[in-house]
Amino acid sequence: MNIGEHDARIITKDICSDCGSQCCKLGGVVATKNESDAITERGYPNHFVKLKCDVYGIDWGKDGSCVYLNDSGCSIYHVRPLGCRMFPVVQTRNHDVILVKCPLASSLSDDEISTRKRILLQRPNYVIRESEHLRQNHEKDLRMRIAKYEHERV
Ligand code: SF4
Repeated sequence: MNIGEHDARIITKDICSDCGSQCCKLGGVVATKNESDAITERGYPNHFVKLKCDVYGIDWGKDGSCVYLNDSGCSIYHVRPLGCRMFPVVQTRNHDVILVKCPLASSLSDDEISTRKRILLQRPNYVIRESEHLRQNHEKDLRMRIAKYEHERV
């Protein structure tokens, strides 16, 4: 059976909502200028902090939750940044790409994982550096939260 994009989105939203959107509580989300402009131009509040070049960090609360996360999930779902769209495939420093074994991971085909990896590897290095830097500031909390999930290199 071929799952259409609409059905795939419903399945994804269901899995993520059952999980409680834990990935949105990890901190360290970055957006490019184009991505942050696309979000604010649609009337969403501006929660971006300029980092370097055209990289912006998204504010998060003390518990590491992204400010765009609410009780119904991501409030900017249709315009969320690339790193959010590619999760649970995540690029780390040194060009390693990992698959975080969250509940969504097992619903992804090998092709989908490869496509996400290819898209992530096209991002400029400084985007990855800034994201990692943000995460280091919350490293202890992050380690505790990410420890919930295994991960593997892909
Ligand atoms: S922008 Fe949306 S998907 Fe990305 S971390 Fe924030 S709430 Fe989650």
